Amino acid sequence: MSEALTPPPLKNDCFALPPGTHWTPVGDAFESLRTRLGPVVDCETVPLSEALGRVLAQDLNANRSNPPQPNSAVDGYGLRHADLVDGPQVLPLMDGRSAAGVPFEGALGAGHAIRILTGATLPDGVDTVILQEDVSASDQEIAFHGPLKRGANTRKAGEDVAAGDVILPAGRRITPADMALMAATGLGEVSVRKKLRVGVLSTGDELAEAGAVAREDQIFDANRPMLLAMLQRFGFEAHDLGRAPDDRPALRGMLDAASARVDVILTSGGASAGDEDHMSALLNESGAMAMWRLAIKPGRPLALGIWQGTPVFGLPGNPVAAMVCALVFARPAMGLMAGEGWKLPEPLMLPAAFAKSKKAGRREYQRARIRGGQVEVFKSEGSGRISGLSWAEGLVELPDEACDVTQGTPVAFYPFSAFGL
Ligand code: AMP
Ligand code: MG
Repeated sequence: MSEALTPPPLKNDCFALPPGTHWTPVGDAFESLRTRLGPVVDCETVPLSEALGRVLAQDLNANRSNPPQPNSAVDGYGLRHADLVDGPQVLPLMDGRSAAGVPFEGALGAGHAIRILTGATLPDGVDTVILQEDVSASDQEIAFHGPLKRGANTRKAGEDVAAGDVILPAGRRITPADMALMAATGLGEVSVRKKLRVGVLSTGDELAEAGAVAREDQIFDANRPMLLAMLQRFGFEAHDLGRAPDDRPALRGMLDAASARVDVILTSGGASAGDEDHMSALLNESGAMAMWRLAIKPGRPLALGIWQGTPVFGLPGNPVAAMVCALVFARPAMGLMAGEGWKLPEPLMLPAAFAKSKKAGRREYQRARIRGGQVEVFKSEGSGRISGLSWAEGLVELPDEACDVTQGTPVAFYPFSAFGL
Protein backbone atom coordinates (compact mmCIF):
# COMPACT_ATOMS: atom_id res chain seq x y z
CA MET A 1 0.00 0.00 0.00
CA SER A 2 1.40 3.34 -0.97
CA GLU A 3 1.44 6.17 1.45
CA ALA A 4 -1.05 8.92 0.78
CA LEU A 5 0.47 11.87 -0.96
CA THR A 6 0.22 15.14 0.82
CA PRO A 7 -0.36 18.18 -1.33
CA PRO A 8 2.40 20.80 -1.28
CA PRO A 9 1.75 23.95 0.70
CA LEU A 10 0.12 26.64 -1.38
CA LYS A 11 2.36 29.39 -2.62
CA ASN A 12 0.78 32.76 -2.60
CA ASP A 13 3.46 34.21 -4.84
CA CYS A 14 4.51 31.70 -7.45
CA PHE A 15 7.31 34.02 -8.55
CA ALA A 16 8.84 34.17 -5.10
CA LEU A 17 12.52 33.34 -5.23
CA PRO A 18 13.21 29.99 -3.57
CA PRO A 19 15.20 30.49 -0.37
CA GLY A 20 18.92 29.99 -0.77
CA THR A 21 18.79 29.95 -4.56
CA HIS A 22 21.09 32.22 -6.47
CA TRP A 23 19.42 34.12 -9.24
CA THR A 24 21.87 35.75 -11.60
CA PRO A 25 21.25 39.48 -11.71
CA VAL A 26 20.80 40.90 -15.20
CA GLY A 27 23.93 43.05 -14.84
CA ASP A 28 26.08 39.99 -13.99
CA ALA A 29 24.65 38.13 -16.96
CA PHE A 30 25.56 41.06 -19.21
CA GLU A 31 29.07 41.10 -17.82
CA SER A 32 29.53 37.39 -18.52
CA LEU A 33 28.28 37.73 -22.08
CA ARG A 34 30.39 40.82 -22.69
CA THR A 35 33.60 39.23 -21.47
CA ARG A 36 33.11 35.71 -22.86
CA LEU A 37 31.97 36.52 -26.40
CA GLY A 38 33.72 38.24 -29.29
CA PRO A 39 33.39 38.72 -33.06
CA VAL A 40 33.01 35.45 -34.96
CA VAL A 41 32.52 36.72 -38.51
CA ASP A 42 35.10 37.52 -41.19
CA CYS A 43 35.44 40.73 -43.17
CA GLU A 44 34.57 41.47 -46.77
CA THR A 45 34.64 44.54 -48.99
CA VAL A 46 31.34 45.73 -50.42
CA PRO A 47 30.41 48.61 -52.71
CA LEU A 48 28.68 51.55 -51.05
CA SER A 49 25.39 50.53 -52.66
CA GLU A 50 25.39 47.37 -50.51
CA ALA A 51 26.70 48.91 -47.30
CA LEU A 52 23.44 49.93 -45.62
CA GLY A 53 22.93 48.05 -42.36
CA ARG A 54 26.34 46.39 -42.50
CA VAL A 55 28.85 46.54 -39.65
CA LEU A 56 32.11 48.39 -40.28
CA ALA A 57 35.12 46.12 -39.86
CA GLN A 58 37.55 49.01 -39.31
CA ASP A 59 37.51 52.69 -38.51
CA LEU A 60 36.63 54.53 -41.69
CA ASN A 61 38.76 57.47 -42.84
CA ALA A 62 37.66 60.21 -45.22
CA ASN A 63 39.27 59.91 -48.64
CA ARG A 64 38.93 63.63 -49.08
CA SER A 65 37.66 66.72 -47.33
CA ASN A 66 34.09 67.90 -47.28
CA PRO A 67 33.76 70.40 -48.77
CA PRO A 68 36.85 69.84 -50.90
CA GLN A 69 37.22 73.55 -51.68
CA PRO A 70 35.95 76.78 -50.13
CA ASN A 71 32.57 77.61 -51.66
CA SER A 72 29.55 79.84 -51.39
CA ALA A 73 26.71 78.98 -49.02
CA VAL A 74 24.22 81.23 -50.87
CA ASP A 75 23.35 82.81 -54.20
CA GLY A 76 24.95 86.27 -54.16
CA TYR A 77 28.14 88.15 -54.93
CA GLY A 78 31.71 87.32 -54.03
CA LEU A 79 33.88 90.05 -52.52
CA ARG A 80 37.24 90.71 -50.94
CA HIS A 81 36.61 91.72 -47.33
CA ALA A 82 39.55 94.14 -47.37
CA ASP A 83 37.78 96.17 -50.12
CA LEU A 84 34.69 96.82 -47.99
CA VAL A 85 33.73 99.88 -45.98
CA ASP A 86 31.06 100.43 -43.35
CA GLY A 87 27.89 102.00 -44.74
CA PRO A 88 26.61 102.27 -48.33
CA GLN A 89 28.94 101.36 -51.18
CA VAL A 90 29.03 100.38 -54.83
CA LEU A 91 31.37 97.80 -56.41
CA PRO A 92 31.85 97.11 -60.13
CA LEU A 93 31.05 93.56 -61.27
CA MET A 94 33.54 91.27 -63.03
CA ASP A 95 32.44 89.64 -66.27
CA GLY A 96 31.46 86.03 -65.77
CA ARG A 97 30.33 84.13 -62.71
CA SER A 98 31.11 81.15 -60.52
CA ALA A 99 28.49 78.40 -60.42
CA ALA A 100 28.43 74.96 -58.74
CA GLY A 101 30.47 72.65 -60.93
CA VAL A 102 31.40 75.52 -63.31
CA PRO A 103 33.95 77.60 -61.39
CA PHE A 104 35.19 81.05 -62.48
CA GLU A 105 38.59 80.56 -64.07
CA GLY A 106 40.19 83.87 -63.11
CA ALA A 107 40.83 85.85 -59.94
CA LEU A 108 38.76 88.63 -58.42
CA GLY A 109 40.00 92.05 -59.56
CA ALA A 110 40.87 94.60 -56.87
CA GLY A 111 37.79 96.49 -55.67
CA HIS A 112 35.41 94.23 -57.66
CA ALA A 113 32.57 91.85 -56.94
CA ILE A 114 31.59 88.72 -58.86
CA ARG A 115 28.32 86.87 -59.29
CA ILE A 116 28.42 83.57 -57.39
CA LEU A 117 25.89 80.79 -56.85
CA THR A 118 25.35 78.33 -54.00
CA GLY A 119 27.96 75.58 -53.90
CA ALA A 120 30.28 77.37 -56.36
CA THR A 121 34.00 77.39 -55.61
CA LEU A 122 35.17 80.79 -54.35
CA PRO A 123 37.34 82.37 -57.08
CA ASP A 124 40.84 83.44 -55.99
CA GLY A 125 40.55 86.65 -54.00
CA VAL A 126 36.96 86.07 -52.81
CA ASP A 127 36.75 85.57 -49.05
CA THR A 128 33.24 86.88 -48.35
CA VAL A 129 29.85 86.57 -50.07
CA ILE A 130 26.91 88.95 -49.83
CA LEU A 131 23.43 87.53 -50.18
CA GLN A 132 21.72 88.56 -53.41
CA GLU A 133 18.68 89.77 -51.41
CA ASP A 134 20.93 92.34 -49.70
CA VAL A 135 22.11 94.11 -52.87
CA SER A 136 20.69 96.23 -55.70
CA ALA A 137 22.31 94.96 -58.86
CA SER A 138 22.66 96.15 -62.47
CA ASP A 139 24.66 94.41 -65.19
CA GLN A 140 27.73 96.42 -64.26
CA GLU A 141 27.66 96.92 -60.51
CA ILE A 142 26.12 96.19 -57.14
CA ALA A 143 25.17 98.55 -54.31
CA PHE A 144 24.84 97.45 -50.69
CA HIS A 145 25.41 98.44 -47.08
CA GLY A 146 28.49 97.44 -45.06
CA PRO A 147 29.79 96.21 -42.81
CA LEU A 148 29.97 92.52 -43.69
CA LYS A 149 31.64 89.91 -41.56
CA ARG A 150 34.76 88.48 -43.12
CA GLY A 151 33.93 85.03 -44.44
CA ALA A 152 30.18 85.67 -44.36
CA ASN A 153 28.13 83.15 -46.38
CA THR A 154 31.13 81.02 -47.26
CA ARG A 155 32.07 77.46 -46.37
CA LYS A 156 35.68 76.62 -45.65
CA ALA A 157 37.40 73.64 -47.24
CA GLY A 158 37.21 70.71 -44.81
CA GLU A 159 35.00 72.56 -42.33
CA ASP A 160 32.75 69.49 -42.15
CA VAL A 161 35.34 66.72 -42.50
CA ALA A 162 39.06 66.90 -43.27
CA ALA A 163 40.69 64.25 -45.49
CA GLY A 164 42.02 61.47 -43.28
CA ASP A 165 39.60 62.12 -40.41
CA VAL A 166 37.94 59.08 -38.88
CA ILE A 167 34.34 59.54 -40.00
CA LEU A 168 32.85 56.34 -38.59
CA PRO A 169 34.20 53.86 -36.03
CA ALA A 170 34.67 50.10 -36.40
CA GLY A 171 31.54 48.33 -35.20
CA ARG A 172 29.20 50.97 -36.56
CA ARG A 173 26.08 49.64 -38.24
CA ILE A 174 25.75 51.81 -41.32
CA THR A 175 22.73 54.12 -41.40
CA PRO A 176 21.19 56.06 -44.29
CA ALA A 177 22.94 59.21 -43.01
CA ASP A 178 26.26 57.33 -43.03
CA MET A 179 25.69 56.61 -46.71
CA ALA A 180 25.75 60.37 -47.35
CA LEU A 181 28.85 60.87 -45.21
CA MET A 182 30.78 58.07 -46.91
CA ALA A 183 29.76 59.22 -50.39
CA ALA A 184 30.61 62.87 -49.64
CA THR A 185 34.06 61.96 -48.41
CA GLY A 186 34.93 59.99 -51.50
CA LEU A 187 34.38 56.38 -50.43
CA GLY A 188 33.11 53.92 -53.03
CA GLU A 189 33.51 50.71 -51.05
CA VAL A 190 33.90 49.72 -47.43
CA SER A 191 35.26 46.86 -45.39
CA VAL A 192 32.43 45.28 -43.40
CA ARG A 193 31.80 42.17 -41.35
CA LYS A 194 30.11 39.26 -43.02
CA LYS A 195 26.57 38.96 -41.74
CA LEU A 196 26.14 36.92 -38.60
CA ARG A 197 24.21 33.76 -39.48
CA VAL A 198 21.60 33.07 -36.85
CA GLY A 199 19.39 29.98 -36.89
CA VAL A 200 15.96 29.82 -35.27
CA LEU A 201 14.52 26.57 -33.99
CA SER A 202 11.22 26.05 -32.21
CA THR A 203 10.69 23.10 -29.93
CA GLY A 204 7.55 21.41 -28.69
CA ASP A 205 5.15 18.65 -29.71
CA GLU A 206 2.28 21.07 -29.42
CA LEU A 207 3.45 23.30 -32.25
CA ALA A 208 1.89 23.48 -35.69
CA GLU A 209 3.07 25.54 -38.63
CA ALA A 210 1.33 28.89 -39.09
CA GLY A 211 -1.47 28.57 -41.63
CA ALA A 212 -1.49 24.75 -41.51
CA VAL A 213 -4.38 22.63 -40.32
CA ALA A 214 -3.88 22.16 -36.59
CA ARG A 215 -5.34 19.73 -34.11
CA GLU A 216 -7.44 21.26 -31.34
CA ASP A 217 -4.69 20.56 -28.85
CA GLN A 218 -2.01 22.20 -30.93
CA ILE A 219 -0.92 25.84 -31.02
CA PHE A 220 0.70 27.63 -33.89
CA ASP A 221 4.40 28.28 -33.74
CA ALA A 222 4.49 32.00 -33.05
CA ASN A 223 8.06 32.34 -31.85
CA ARG A 224 9.79 31.27 -35.02
CA PRO A 225 8.21 33.88 -37.33
CA MET A 226 8.78 36.50 -34.63
CA LEU A 227 12.42 35.66 -34.00
CA LEU A 228 13.23 35.34 -37.71
CA ALA A 229 11.70 38.77 -38.28
CA MET A 230 13.61 40.27 -35.37
CA LEU A 231 16.88 38.93 -36.75
CA GLN A 232 16.19 40.53 -40.10
CA ARG A 233 15.62 43.87 -38.40
CA PHE A 234 18.84 43.44 -36.42
CA GLY A 235 20.67 43.07 -39.73
CA PHE A 236 21.65 39.42 -39.28
CA GLU A 237 21.22 36.56 -41.73
CA ALA A 238 18.21 34.67 -40.41
CA HIS A 239 18.11 30.91 -41.02
CA ASP A 240 14.89 29.01 -40.48
CA LEU A 241 15.75 25.74 -38.72
CA GLY A 242 12.13 24.63 -38.43
CA ARG A 243 10.43 22.90 -35.54
CA ALA A 244 11.79 20.12 -33.37
CA PRO A 245 9.57 17.62 -31.57
CA ASP A 246 9.97 16.93 -27.86
CA ASP A 247 12.32 14.11 -28.71
CA ARG A 248 15.93 14.15 -27.65
CA PRO A 249 17.56 12.27 -30.56
CA ALA A 250 15.61 14.32 -33.10
CA LEU A 251 16.57 17.57 -31.39
CA ARG A 252 20.18 16.44 -31.17
CA GLY A 253 20.24 15.78 -34.92
CA MET A 254 18.77 19.19 -35.66
CA LEU A 255 21.33 20.94 -33.47
CA ASP A 256 24.14 18.99 -35.14
CA ALA A 257 22.99 20.06 -38.59
CA ALA A 258 22.38 23.64 -37.50
CA SER A 259 25.75 24.12 -35.84
CA ALA A 260 27.42 23.37 -39.17
CA ARG A 261 25.36 26.03 -40.96
CA VAL A 262 25.10 29.02 -38.63
CA ASP A 263 27.13 31.11 -36.19
CA VAL A 264 24.48 31.26 -33.46
CA ILE A 265 21.37 29.22 -32.69
CA LEU A 266 18.26 30.63 -31.04
CA THR A 267 15.83 28.05 -29.78
CA SER A 268 12.59 28.60 -27.96
CA GLY A 269 10.84 26.27 -25.57
CA GLY A 270 12.11 23.35 -23.56
CA ALA A 271 14.58 25.46 -21.66
CA SER A 272 13.43 24.75 -18.11
CA ALA A 273 14.00 21.66 -16.05
CA GLY A 274 10.74 19.82 -16.79
CA ASP A 275 10.21 16.32 -18.24
CA GLU A 276 9.95 17.60 -21.78
CA ASP A 277 12.63 20.26 -21.49
CA HIS A 278 15.03 18.57 -23.85
CA MET A 279 16.84 21.71 -24.86
CA SER A 280 18.27 22.32 -21.42
CA ALA A 281 18.91 18.59 -20.95
CA LEU A 282 20.91 18.37 -24.19
CA LEU A 283 22.91 21.49 -23.48
CA ASN A 284 23.65 20.04 -20.08
CA GLU A 285 24.79 16.80 -21.71
CA SER A 286 27.10 18.69 -24.06
CA GLY A 287 28.92 19.83 -20.97
CA ALA A 288 29.14 23.47 -22.02
CA MET A 289 25.85 24.54 -20.60
CA ALA A 290 25.30 27.42 -18.29
CA MET A 291 21.80 27.24 -16.96
CA TRP A 292 21.14 30.79 -16.08
CA ARG A 293 18.47 31.31 -13.58
CA LEU A 294 18.17 34.93 -14.45
CA ALA A 295 16.64 37.35 -12.05
CA ILE A 296 14.33 38.70 -14.71
CA LYS A 297 10.63 38.76 -15.35
CA PRO A 298 9.43 37.56 -17.74
CA GLY A 299 11.91 35.14 -19.04
CA ARG A 300 13.51 32.77 -16.71
CA PRO A 301 15.00 30.42 -17.41
CA LEU A 302 17.36 31.11 -20.23
CA ALA A 303 19.60 28.20 -21.18
CA LEU A 304 22.96 29.09 -22.64
CA GLY A 305 25.25 26.55 -24.15
CA ILE A 306 27.80 25.77 -26.81
CA TRP A 307 26.76 23.06 -29.25
CA GLN A 308 29.74 21.82 -31.26
CA GLY A 309 31.34 25.23 -31.03
CA THR A 310 28.17 27.19 -31.80
CA PRO A 311 26.60 29.34 -29.09
CA VAL A 312 23.00 28.41 -28.36
CA PHE A 313 20.50 30.70 -26.67
CA GLY A 314 17.75 28.53 -25.28
CA LEU A 315 14.97 31.09 -24.99
CA PRO A 316 11.82 30.47 -22.99
CA GLY A 317 8.81 29.12 -24.87
CA ASN A 318 6.35 31.80 -23.87
CA PRO A 319 6.33 34.29 -26.73
CA VAL A 320 6.51 37.34 -24.46
CA ALA A 321 9.43 35.90 -22.51
CA ALA A 322 11.07 34.75 -25.73
CA MET A 323 10.89 38.24 -27.17
CA VAL A 324 12.07 39.96 -23.99
CA CYS A 325 15.02 37.58 -23.59
CA ALA A 326 15.90 37.90 -27.26
CA LEU A 327 15.91 41.70 -27.01
CA VAL A 328 17.55 42.04 -23.63
CA PHE A 329 20.17 39.25 -23.79
CA ALA A 330 20.51 37.68 -27.20
CA ARG A 331 20.64 40.94 -29.14
CA PRO A 332 23.66 42.52 -27.40
CA ALA A 333 25.42 39.14 -27.38
CA MET A 334 24.79 38.66 -31.09
CA GLY A 335 25.89 42.25 -31.73
CA LEU A 336 29.19 41.44 -30.11
CA MET A 337 29.57 38.31 -32.24
CA ALA A 338 28.64 40.31 -35.34
CA GLY A 339 31.49 42.77 -34.68
CA GLU A 340 29.37 45.65 -33.36
CA GLY A 341 30.96 45.63 -29.94
CA TRP A 342 28.94 45.45 -26.75
CA LYS A 343 26.08 47.90 -26.99
CA LEU A 344 23.12 48.28 -24.70
CA PRO A 345 20.21 50.51 -25.62
CA GLU A 346 19.73 53.89 -23.93
CA PRO A 347 16.44 54.24 -22.11
CA LEU A 348 14.22 57.30 -22.19
CA MET A 349 13.24 58.39 -18.69
CA LEU A 350 9.55 59.25 -18.89
CA PRO A 351 6.73 59.64 -16.40
CA ALA A 352 4.70 56.51 -15.72
CA ALA A 353 0.99 56.44 -16.50
CA PHE A 354 0.66 53.38 -14.23
CA ALA A 355 1.14 52.29 -10.67
CA LYS A 356 3.16 49.26 -9.63
CA SER A 357 4.75 48.05 -6.47
CA LYS A 358 7.70 45.77 -7.07
CA LYS A 359 9.80 43.68 -4.71
CA ALA A 360 13.58 43.51 -4.76
CA GLY A 361 15.40 40.63 -6.42
CA ARG A 362 14.78 40.73 -10.13
CA ARG A 363 14.54 43.10 -13.01
CA GLU A 364 11.16 43.37 -14.67
CA TYR A 365 10.19 44.22 -18.21
CA GLN A 366 6.68 45.09 -19.22
CA ARG A 367 5.18 45.72 -22.60
CA ALA A 368 4.76 49.46 -22.84
CA ARG A 369 4.12 52.41 -25.10
CA ILE A 370 4.11 56.20 -24.90
CA ARG A 371 0.87 58.12 -25.04
CA GLY A 372 0.64 61.79 -24.19
CA GLY A 373 4.28 61.80 -23.07
CA GLN A 374 3.65 59.09 -20.46
CA VAL A 375 4.49 55.40 -20.34
CA GLU A 376 1.50 53.07 -20.43
CA VAL A 377 1.81 49.34 -19.73
CA PHE A 378 -0.22 46.49 -21.16
CA LYS A 379 -3.23 45.52 -19.10
CA SER A 380 -1.89 42.04 -18.36
CA GLU A 381 1.56 40.83 -17.39
CA GLY A 382 0.68 37.33 -18.65
CA SER A 383 3.62 35.92 -20.54
CA GLY A 384 1.50 34.13 -23.13
CA ARG A 385 -0.40 37.23 -24.22
CA ILE A 386 0.95 37.73 -27.68
CA SER A 387 -1.52 40.52 -28.42
CA GLY A 388 0.31 42.66 -25.86
CA LEU A 389 3.51 42.42 -27.87
CA SER A 390 1.76 43.94 -30.85
CA TRP A 391 0.05 46.53 -28.63
CA ALA A 392 3.43 47.57 -27.23
CA GLU A 393 5.90 49.93 -28.86
CA GLY A 394 8.68 49.15 -26.43
CA LEU A 395 9.51 47.85 -22.98
CA VAL A 396 9.52 49.53 -19.63
CA GLU A 397 12.28 48.33 -17.32
CA LEU A 398 11.82 48.26 -13.57
CA PRO A 399 15.09 47.97 -11.64
CA ASP A 400 16.39 44.96 -9.68
CA GLU A 401 15.65 46.80 -6.45
CA ALA A 402 12.25 47.23 -4.89
CA CYS A 403 10.34 50.20 -6.23
CA ASP A 404 7.00 51.88 -5.94
CA VAL A 405 5.93 53.41 -9.19
CA THR A 406 3.01 55.80 -9.09
CA GLN A 407 1.51 58.06 -11.72
CA GLY A 408 4.28 60.46 -12.81
CA THR A 409 7.27 58.46 -11.46
CA PRO A 410 10.08 58.58 -14.05
CA VAL A 411 10.58 55.09 -15.51
CA ALA A 412 13.03 53.67 -18.06
CA PHE A 413 11.32 53.14 -21.40
CA TYR A 414 13.09 51.44 -24.29
CA PRO A 415 11.37 51.93 -27.63
CA PHE A 416 11.67 48.76 -29.73
CA SER A 417 13.80 50.84 -32.12
CA ALA A 418 16.43 51.20 -29.35
CA PHE A 419 16.98 47.44 -29.63
CA GLY A 420 17.29 47.68 -33.39
CA LEU A 421 13.75 46.57 -34.24
P1 AMP B 1 8.16 25.48 -22.73
O1 AMP B 1 9.25 26.40 -22.31
O2 AMP B 1 8.55 24.58 -23.84
O3 AMP B 1 7.60 24.74 -21.56
O4 AMP B 1 6.99 26.41 -23.27
C1 AMP B 1 6.35 27.36 -22.45
C2 AMP B 1 5.07 27.81 -23.08
O5 AMP B 1 5.34 28.46 -24.32
C3 AMP B 1 4.12 26.67 -23.42
O6 AMP B 1 2.80 27.13 -23.17
C4 AMP B 1 4.34 26.44 -24.87
O7 AMP B 1 3.26 25.85 -25.52
C5 AMP B 1 4.60 27.83 -25.36
N1 AMP B 1 5.43 27.83 -26.57
C6 AMP B 1 6.59 27.15 -26.72
N2 AMP B 1 7.09 27.35 -27.94
C7 AMP B 1 6.23 28.17 -28.58
C8 AMP B 1 6.20 28.73 -29.88
N3 AMP B 1 7.17 28.50 -30.76
N4 AMP B 1 5.17 29.55 -30.21
C9 AMP B 1 4.19 29.80 -29.31
N5 AMP B 1 4.17 29.31 -28.08
C10 AMP B 1 5.17 28.48 -27.69
MG1 MG C 1 7.93 22.82 -24.68
